[in-house]
Amino acid sequence: MTTNITLPNQIVSAIRSVIGTETALLHEPSFNGNEWNYVKECLDSSYVSSIGKFVEQFEGELTNYTGAKYAIAVVNGTAALHIALLLAGVSNNDEVLIPALTFVATANAVSYCGASPHLVDSEEKTLGMDPIALREYLNDITEIRNKQCINRHTGNVIRAIVPMHTFGHPVDIAELKVVAHDFCLEMIEDAAESLGSYVDGKHTGTFGLMGTFSFNGNKTITTGGGGAIITNDEDLARRAKHITTTAKLRHMWKYVHDEVGYNYRMPNINAALGCAQLEQLSTLLSAKRHLFKRYQKAFENISQVSIVKEPNGCQSNYWLQTILLNNSVTNQRDIILDSTNEAGFMTRPSWTLMNDLEPYKNSQKMELSVAESLQRRIINLPSSAHLDMDKVC
Ligand SMILES: *Cc1c(COP(=O)(O)O)cnc(C)c1O
Repeated sequence: MTTNITLPNQIVSAIRSVIGTETALLHEPSFNGNEWNYVKECLDSSYVSSIGKFVEQFEGELTNYTGAKYAIAVVNGTAALHIALLLAGVSNNDEVLIPALTFVATANAVSYCGASPHLVDSEEKTLGMDPIALREYLNDITEIRNKQCINRHTGNVIRAIVPMHTFGHPVDIAELKVVAHDFCLEMIEDAAESLGSYVDGKHTGTFGLMGTFSFNGNKTITTGGGGAIITNDEDLARRAKHITTTAKLRHMWKYVHDEVGYNYRMPNINAALGCAQLEQLSTLLSAKRHLFKRYQKAFENISQVSIVKEPNGCQSNYWLQTILLNNSVTNQRDIILDSTNEAGFMTRPSWTLMNDLEPYKNSQKMELSVAESLQRRIINLPSSAHLDMDKVC
């Protein structure tokens, strides 16, 4: 009987039973392949920066892996979102639909375009945008004029929608695509967290006009810092490459820049790391999936907690393992976070909702009851692939 063991202690024991008695961070990279070789190759050749073979190689491998026609490597995931939104036509005074429950980068990228985030509620089964609630909301507050979606409250154009695949779990992207179409919105997928996640066998990030990835140190694979835009549109791909590399025209010696460009290119040394990481992606993904199964077993007898599983028809990369507290025990969330962190297991609550952050507190928003509930109930668990690989070896 475990009835007189407190919930925080039960959770600490469950985590310990999965990852052993050692401490564990939330998400650490694994460098078990050609990382040293490829980075050394950069140093030996002196091509560490804006010239070198690895950027193109990394982009090519990303297209092979995701099935997108084009990939443009950039300096981080936020920059990828910024450029994707600009190229989708987002500009001053526009509004862009983003989830309230996301990392702040999604909202910031909208702001960089002079536009405002407009916050959308989640659904519990995906943690991401709820297409049904969103459709009802848009029916209520918008009208279509000249093939533009006008927010009747602000008079602004709602230009685009940015669904995000939370912790690697695919959002209901097929339905959201229909909503985007019906309301004349460009769809950009924030797939920062979902490299290796699929919907009906199609890679996340390939459903909209463009998709974006992050290769920050805590993501499934890392380039140190880095990101990418993927798209099937040749013209957009060309524009993305141009504008992220200072908009310089090709010339043997002349400096001609034909628009305001950005220095957002990914350095060769980072791309070298990325090439090595991509070679191991399938190993990392199976380790993460296996880690999920072990957590699932460890938590199955704790009735006040459920573990977040990939949505039906989807394959998740299980980037961050997640438990959801039942409503009856949300008042224990902070004690659980304290106990697990004190025990050496790095756990984290979900992000603060965008509307609770100072820069976004006055954002337009729909009713956010599910996102608010999720925000009180989500706890992310230590999720590094090596936690499984160490155990298996
Ligand atoms: C990590 C992340 C980003 C941005 O990535 P950076 O590479 O850190 O700029 C954007 N959106 C989401 C949802 C993320 O998790």
